[in-house]
Amino acid sequence: MVKWVYTFGAGKAEGSSDMRDLLGGKGAGLAEMANLGLPVPPGFTITTEVCTYFYENERRFPPQLAADVETALGFIGRLTGKAFGDNEAPLLLSVRSGARASMPGMMDTVLNLGLNDVTVRALAQNSGDERFAYDSYRRFIQMYSSVVLGIGHHHFEDAVEYHKEARGVTFDTELGAEDWEKLIVAFKAKVVEASGKPFPQAPKEQLWGAIAAVFGSWLTPRAITYRRIHGIPANWGTAVNVQAMVFGNMGPTSATGVAFTRNPSTGAKELYGEFLLNAQGEDVVAGIRTPNAITEASRCAAGSDQPSMETALPAVFAEFVRATELLERHYRDMQDVEFTVENGKLWMLQTRTGKRTSVAALRVAVDMTHEGLIARDEAIARVDPASLDQLLHPAIDPVATRKVIATGLPASPGAASGEIAFTADEAEQMKNMGRKVILVRIETSPDDIHGMHAAEGVLTTRGGMTSHAAVVARGMGKPCVTGAAAIRVDYANATMSAAGVTFKRGDMLTLDGATGEVIQGAIEMSQPELSGEFAILMKWADEVRRMQVRANAETPPDARAARKFGADGIGLCRTEHMFFETDRLTAVRQMILADDLAGRRAALAKLLPMQRGDFIELFEIMGGLPVTIRLLDPPLHEFLPQTAAEIDEVAEALGVPAEKICSRLADLREVNPMLGFRGSRLAIAFPEIAEMQARAIFEAAVEVKRRTGELVRPEIMTPLIIAKPEFDLIKAKVDAIARTVAEETGQAVPYTVGTMVETPRASLRAGEIAESAAFLSFGTNDLTQTCMALSRDDASSFLGRYVALGILPADPFVTIDQDGVGELVAIGVERSRAARPGIKLGICGEHGGDPATIAFCEKLGLDYVSCSPFRVPIARLAAAQATLRRKASNTD
Ligand code: PEP
Ligand code: MG
Repeated sequence: MVKWVYTFGAGKAEGSSDMRDLLGGKGAGLAEMANLGLPVPPGFTITTEVCTYFYENERRFPPQLAADVETALGFIGRLTGKAFGDNEAPLLLSVRSGARASMPGMMDTVLNLGLNDVTVRALAQNSGDERFAYDSYRRFIQMYSSVVLGIGHHHFEDAVEYHKEARGVTFDTELGAEDWEKLIVAFKAKVVEASGKPFPQAPKEQLWGAIAAVFGSWLTPRAITYRRIHGIPANWGTAVNVQAMVFGNMGPTSATGVAFTRNPSTGAKELYGEFLLNAQGEDVVAGIRTPNAITEASRCAAGSDQPSMETALPAVFAEFVRATELLERHYRDMQDVEFTVENGKLWMLQTRTGKRTSVAALRVAVDMTHEGLIARDEAIARVDPASLDQLLHPAIDPVATRKVIATGLPASPGAASGEIAFTADEAEQMKNMGRKVILVRIETSPDDIHGMHAAEGVLTTRGGMTSHAAVVARGMGKPCVTGAAAIRVDYANATMSAAGVTFKRGDMLTLDGATGEVIQGAIEMSQPELSGEFAILMKWADEVRRMQVRANAETPPDARAARKFGADGIGLCRTEHMFFETDRLTAVRQMILADDLAGRRAALAKLLPMQRGDFIELFEIMGGLPVTIRLLDPPLHEFLPQTAAEIDEVAEALGVPAEKICSRLADLREVNPMLGFRGSRLAIAFPEIAEMQARAIFEAAVEVKRRTGELVRPEIMTPLIIAKPEFDLIKAKVDAIARTVAEETGQAVPYTVGTMVETPRASLRAGEIAESAAFLSFGTNDLTQTCMALSRDDASSFLGRYVALGILPADPFVTIDQDGVGELVAIGVERSRAARPGIKLGICGEHGGDPATIAFCEKLGLDYVSCSPFRVPIARLAAAQATLRRKASNTD
C-alpha cells in the first residue's frame, strides 16, 4: 500500500533528509531535525506523490488519505495533549507547502487553523490572553480567506483601517481583544459578501480546504513563472506539511525569526539573522515590520538600538546557537533556519541549505574545506560555475563621486544603474524596449517576480535582509537594497522622494548592493577584485580538471584579461577582428575589392607590418603559452563598404573611380553570405592573403624569441573547411612561407597547422582531414548554423518559441545541441582519433564557456575548450566539475 503521510515529532520521524523528492525540502528537513532530537512541533507531511495524484485525478485525493491524515492527527494530539476540533483543548495547526527545491514565498501557507467561534474562547482561556486569541483568529480568517477562498487581503485591511480610525488609534498594537472580536464579526460578514457562504467553522473542513489550496498553489501563475526562471520541473509537485501551531506572538518572551548559520552575503562564519519579539511567523519574511538582529555583534554592526535576541532572550539564544551549530555540522553546509519561541521555549520550524551570493558560496566552500567539514572535491562541486559571473561583473568605481540619497540594507551585492520603474509590469515593458531598469517597491511580493527578473537591480523601502526581495534577488544574482526607509514612494503619482529630491519614473538611479547605498543618476562601474577564496578554489579546480581552458582573444586587452582569468593559452585568435579599426579596415577592403593580384599585393603590403606588430604583442602578453591563430575568415558582407563615403575612401586607396568599386561590389554581393565566399575559400581563391598572414606570424615569433628568449610555437588554423584537399593546399602555402622565413632569418619556428571543424562535411570527413591536420577545433557556432540550417544572426526571433514549446531543450547557440550538433562533434572526434591517435582536439564556439557543453566535451575526451576571457573562470570550474563527475560515474 502506498504510504501517503509521514509523521515526525518527539525525537523521531518516519522520514529523513534523503527523502526530499517525496517529502519536499521542508518535510525532509523537519523529519531530520526531529531525528536529531531538536525541538520540532509535531506534525506530518503529505507527500509529493499526493500532489501528482491530485493533478492526475481532477483535483481529488487518494481514497486512503483521509484515514491516514486522521491517524496522523491522533499522533500530534497524543504528543501535545490536545485534540483537533476539541472545544476545550483544541489542537491548532499550520499548513504549509514544501517542494523539493525551495521556492521562497511562492506557494501558500495557512496558520492558526482549527480556530472558530468556539475554539477561540478555549485559546483565550488556555493562554490567559484574550487579545492574543482574537488576534490569532482574525489572522486565520484573513489568511484562510485569501489562500483558500480567494478573497483579497485588502478587504480585511480596509476594515481594520476603518476600525482604527473610528477608535482614534494609529497602530494595530493599540487594538484590544474587544476590537478584534468586533473586527472578526466584520471579517465574517465580508466572507459571506464575497463568497456567498459563511466562513467554515468545522476544523476538518478548514483542514481539507487548506490542503487542497496548498496543492493548488503549485499551479498559480507566480509559481509557474518562478519554476520557469529557476528550471524547476512542473512534475515534481509539492508536499504539504501540517504541524501543531506554536506561537511567537504570545507575549514578551515569545518571538519568531530566521537565521543563516553563516553570513549569506559574505560567507563569513557568523550566525546571521533577524527576529521579531512577540510576532507571528510570516511577519519577518513578508518584510512587514523591519526586524532586529539576532546577535549582539550584528546589532552593533548595524548600529541598531533595538535589543538583539542575544540580550532579549539569552537562554533561548544559547540553545538556538547550539541547534544551528548541530545542523551545520550535520548537513555539512550553511543552513537557513526558521524558528519560533513560544513563552521562552524554542521551536525549530525549518532548516534548508541556505541560498547565498557567489562571493559567499566561494568563501563557505573554501572555509568548510579548511575546517575539515568537506573535502576539496566537494568544495569544487558546490560552487555553481555560472554564478562566478556575479564576481566578474562590474562594481561601482570606488573613486567615482556618489550622490547618495538614502542607505538601506546591503541585501544582495553587485551594482547596477537603470531607470526607475515602480511596478513589475512597467519594469518588464521598459526592459523589452531595451532599457535598463531599477525596480523600486515599498516591498516586493512574489507577484513581482517577472519585474525583478527584468530589472538590473531591486530597491525596497521596507523589509530586512531576509525579506522576499532580498532572498529572490540574491538567488537571481542581482544587486538589491532593502529597507531604505528614508525613501518615500508614491505609487499613485509614480514618484519617489529622498534627500529633498523627487524622482519620476524613468529617472536614473544606481544601487550599490554591497553597501546598501542608493545613488542619484548613473555612475561609473569598475572591474571587481577577485578574492583570495576565488584564487584558492580556482587552484583546486585546476588541479582536478583534465581539459585545458583557453581563451578566444585577439586584442591586447582581451589577451591580458585571458591571462588574468587563468587561461592556459589562446584557443582562437580571430584575425579578422584585428582589422576592425578604420586604417586597417580600409586596407582590408582594398584587398578584398582589388580585381587583380597587384592591387591585392599592394593592400597586403600595408597589412603585413600591422599584423606582425599585433602578433608580437599577443605572443609577448601570452608569455610562451600556446596561441592558436586562425587565418582570415571574413564573412564578406561584414567587411564590404556600405556608405558612399566608405566607397570613396576605398576607391581613393585603390586609385580607381568609385563606379568601379560599385560594380565590383555588385559582383561580390551574395544572397547567403554565411554560406558564401568566406572561411578557407578566401585562402583558396587568394593564397597571397594566407601567405601574408603566415609570414606575419613567423616573423613575429622570430622577433619575440629575439626579444624575450621565449620560444613561440604558433598553432595556425584554417577556418570553415569542407575537404582535405582544401586544407592540404593551404597548409602547403603555410609550410612554404615557414621555410622562406627560416631561410631569411636563420631561425626555424616550431609550429603546427590544424583546422576548424565547422561544417557537417568536415566532421564526417574528419578521418582523412586528420591525416594532415595536427589539431581540430570544433567551431560550434558555425557547426550549429550549418547542421541545423539556423542563421546565427537571425534565429533569435523564433528560437525562444522553440524552447518554450519544448521542441528544443535550450537555445542551441548557447548550450550545444547534444543530440544533433553534438553527434557531429562525436563523429569528428572518433574518426580523427582513429586516423591520428593523440590528435589535439578542442572546441572554440561560444559553447566553450557553457558548463553543460563543457561537461559534454569532457565526456568526448576533448583536450581543451576555448571561450571568451570573462568566461574562463567559469570554464575552469565547470571543467573540474566535469572531471569529477566523470570519475565518479566511472567508479559507479
Ligand atoms: C565558430 O563558428 O564556432 C567559431 C568559433 O568561429 P566564428 O564564431 O568566428 O565564426
Ligand atoms: Mg566560425
